[in-house]
Amino acid sequence: MPARSLTCSKKMDYKKPTEVNRPEHYSGIQSFFSCPMKYYYSYVHNGHGIVSIDHVPAMAFGTAIHFGLASYAQHRSYDSVAGKIIKDTEILFNGMMYPCRDDVAAKIFGLKANIRAALITSFNNFFIDYLDTYAEVPFYVPEYNFYGTVDRIDKGIKRILWEYKTSSSLSINTVKSLVNSIQQPIYVLCLNKIGFPVDCVNTAIIKKSTLRTRVKEEMEELTLRIAAEYISKPSEYIFKSEWDVDKKLLVDTEIELRAALDIIRSTSVYYRNTSNCFSMMGNRCRYYMICRDDITLGYKDKEPLNLGKHKEERPWL
Ligand code: SF4
Repeated sequence: MPARSLTCSKKMDYKKPTEVNRPEHYSGIQSFFSCPMKYYYSYVHNGHGIVSIDHVPAMAFGTAIHFGLASYAQHRSYDSVAGKIIKDTEILFNGMMYPCRDDVAAKIFGLKANIRAALITSFNNFFIDYLDTYAEVPFYVPEYNFYGTVDRIDKGIKRILWEYKTSSSLSINTVKSLVNSIQQPIYVLCLNKIGFPVDCVNTAIIKKSTLRTRVKEEMEELTLRIAAEYISKPSEYIFKSEWDVDKKLLVDTEIELRAALDIIRSTSVYYRNTSNCFSMMGNRCRYYMICRDDITLGYKDKEPLNLGKHKEERPWL
């Protein structure tokens, strides 16, 4: 068992690079306030960040589901294109998994079956009945030097912003943290700033199945078993929430976003926040091994900023 804390004591000297005007992204903000060193590893190291191999499967799963759902929203014709979407999604997934193909073959097999099953179920659950639906919408807000990509926007009587999330748990805490994340308010604010206001936000969380591959089981068989799970217990695998946008939310979010960006941009030294090395579920930070062995770094805990102060006011069920 790895130690649950990092014990370096040397003074750290990882200074912020001179390029201070780098555009920020929501996930950068999230990682900075979870642990500034995580942000450093993800976004700053050698100018482009480090991709930790042991995190690739989870990343690839989430990216594949997002890709499949975006493709579905673009085509909006489930019967004719579902097979092709799933095939294309798998090609993307294979490419992402390439670096760890040998050591996690069983995991890849299970994840692929899960992606197929989750997409088939999600296509039905997130049915699109709007005439105008946009998927994978990139945006950039010069005023904040901030960019992102919106998963989906349905434009009808109401404009609905959709955010898809994948998770290995649908526990009440996980659901709360994903639905109350400040990401959606920031995206709403940014869309508003660039002249594309939305009326409400849908968060759709898709849980990864826990079914394991049986001996000599074919992919098709495992996919059907997982799909049967998704279909027979939808509430255990898919969670949807919808909330309306109001003016106060936009005002609060703008204050928070500006404060967060100011802190990130004025930081001259990246600290470690070791209280976030392990999640409540016991999952370890994707950079744990790198960070633990990085003896040039020192150790200092710093209170993370309490982002999302408005979140208790937003209904999430
Ligand atoms: S292992 Fe811990 S201290 Fe290091 S980057 Fe991750 S959360 Fe931060």
